[in-house]
Amino acid sequence: MIIDGHNDLVLRTWREQQTKHVDLSQARAADFCGGFFAIWVPGAPGAMDEPVLAPYDIPLEPQLPRAHAVEVAREQLAAFRSLGLPVATSADEFVDGRVTAILHLEGAEALDPMLTDLVDWYREGLRSLGLVWARRNVFAEGVPFRFPGSPDTGPGLTIAGVRLVEACNDLGIVVDLSHLNEKGFWDAAGITTAPLVATHSNAHALCASTRNLTDRQLDAIGTSGGVVGVNFAVGFLREDGNNVEDTPLTEIVRHVSYIAKRIGIDHVAFGSDFDGAVVSHEVGGIQGLPAIVSALAEAGFDEQDIAKITHRNWLRVLRETWR
Ligand code: ZN
Repeated sequence: MIIDGHNDLVLRTWREQQTKHVDLSQARAADFCGGFFAIWVPGAPGAMDEPVLAPYDIPLEPQLPRAHAVEVAREQLAAFRSLGLPVATSADEFVDGRVTAILHLEGAEALDPMLTDLVDWYREGLRSLGLVWARRNVFAEGVPFRFPGSPDTGPGLTIAGVRLVEACNDLGIVVDLSHLNEKGFWDAAGITTAPLVATHSNAHALCASTRNLTDRQLDAIGTSGGVVGVNFAVGFLREDGNNVEDTPLTEIVRHVSYIAKRIGIDHVAFGSDFDGAVVSHEVGGIQGLPAIVSALAEAGFDEQDIAKITHRNWLRVLRETWR
């Protein structure tokens, strides 16, 4: 069983684009049992063209008008439903042989700053939420995409952001720390009562992207009993920061090993970023997941370790966070 921390299949579905990485007809053969499916509201077309080679420094996207964010998020919720997947509200719903989806909101622009609509989203199935993407909003500020760079790029949570973290704790919604800048990370970490979660981020010590986690951040996630979903985006894996498919999948193993060694095998999992990033040609999509598992075994991870990385760690954190 493989449970994954992040994919953008909903965005592709909403755009009526073919999936690049998450071909659900391959799921059973790949042992892919689902995970976090993101709703993400894009900015103006072309505003975020991914750089191929490092170094790069992309400014934050402009803030999104809320009415627009609400409209697109609602449309994407319909696209999510059109996938016809069981929507997880309990960790027990993940079973072998089927794909189960966690409804995740990547960037909280669509939410009312007074949070009057958060319960409605919860009733729709929302069980995971990232405060920000690479923009500022009323809750917090995301990191700009920069390599090399520190994640300490701007101010932390606003009062509305603090209230949003507290409300997520009360309802039992995962607060995703990926994309937050470092001040925002520490603010959220200081408030939340749940294990810390970064659904799709890597080790900054191995790849100095603003999107990755410093050793101190990793340590805090480990101490909290949380989990880091290792992101397969090559630009967040490679030491040189280059965004090229011609990258060995052992780069994923390198980050898994580093995080497991630093904070323990109970705190590392997958967070592929499939359909939202450039990934190794050796992975190619969900059909490449078994090859990553084989590479982990070759690197010395035993069966127990691999079960933790592929699904047990995610399931534990979901059980501890959801109500
Ligand atoms: Zn993301």
